[in-house]
Amino acid sequence: MIKRRASRPVQIGDVTVGGAADVVVQSMTKTDTRDVKSTVAQIDQLAEHGCGIARLAVPDMEAAEALVDIKGKSSLPIIADIHFDYRLALHAMESGVDGLRLNPGNIRDPEHIKKVVQVAKEREVPIRVGVNAGSLPPLAEGEARGSHVERMVDAAMGKIQLLESLDFELIKVSVKAFDVLDTIDANKALAERIPYPIHLGITEAGTPRKGTIRSATGIGILLYEGIGDTIRVSLTGDTVEEVLTGYEILKSLNLSNRGPTLVSCPTCGRTEVDLVPLVNAVEERLAKMEKSIKVAVMGCVVNGPGEAKDADVGLACGRGRGVIFKKGEKILTVEEKDFLEALMAEVEAF
Ligand code: SF4
Repeated sequence: MIKRRASRPVQIGDVTVGGAADVVVQSMTKTDTRDVKSTVAQIDQLAEHGCGIARLAVPDMEAAEALVDIKGKSSLPIIADIHFDYRLALHAMESGVDGLRLNPGNIRDPEHIKKVVQVAKEREVPIRVGVNAGSLPPLAEGEARGSHVERMVDAAMGKIQLLESLDFELIKVSVKAFDVLDTIDANKALAERIPYPIHLGITEAGTPRKGTIRSATGIGILLYEGIGDTIRVSLTGDTVEEVLTGYEILKSLNLSNRGPTLVSCPTCGRTEVDLVPLVNAVEERLAKMEKSIKVAVMGCVVNGPGEAKDADVGLACGRGRGVIFKKGEKILTVEEKDFLEALMAEVEAF
């Protein structure tokens, strides 16, 4: 059982981040924010797969202006991701967004931040101080170049202290790097120093295979240490995949039981069916399901049921025929052509 670090909760629309709330899986839309229709459609897709919060890039005023329309149609709370121009943050808040992400590396003028904070306070819009290793504030003249980790933590702390000095505490924080160890060290250092919720992620983690591994390692280790209130998996790929991967990380640590868990064997010399396409088809059918159920698809009738004895519903495939079992007990024999439908019928009825 993981003992989570206590944090001060903030509210992003109707979603609580921090405190006693479950770890929230969030993602970013990959559409052009100025394209309202596509962006709203992608938000709906994220929501269907259990995403809790959608973050949207706001690269210019036209994108900021689109937010009011998007917000009116969005099925999820929205966070505006702001870099460089504080006026975009002001406009995003006027459009009704539920949260802001500011990058301390490129919004640095305290006067600009004051203006943002004033409106954020009035509208009770939480601000994430989102530090990225790739866009740290430049060193002041004569300032010693510390380690990457120190510079990330300093950048976050500097901005947090500025927000606190303005009597603003609706804060979330993230420190992300491509380097997994730097991300872990920076988050651990930060977690000891602040009471605010922490958003975890490995930035620019890469294509789905690499990105999933780097994210699972970095985010997983921190979650295991009790650190992290919301997570975003960054993949060079489908945004829905980010959400599904996020849930797999949480489920592997028993921090979520949302949706089905698929157990499948690696196949071996005993396998007597073409298991991989079958498992992929099952995975696809399970992806949108919300019920918590453990489903097993195994490549043989000899070891299959035993290997998947914890599953709620399982299929052990033999040559031409297979056995469906519930909680490890055999309930049905099915023909190979019916494997998928017969298994899914049992899953749906469970
Ligand atoms: S369940 Fe059967 S086919 Fe699959 S890995 Fe185990 S022994 Fe091999």
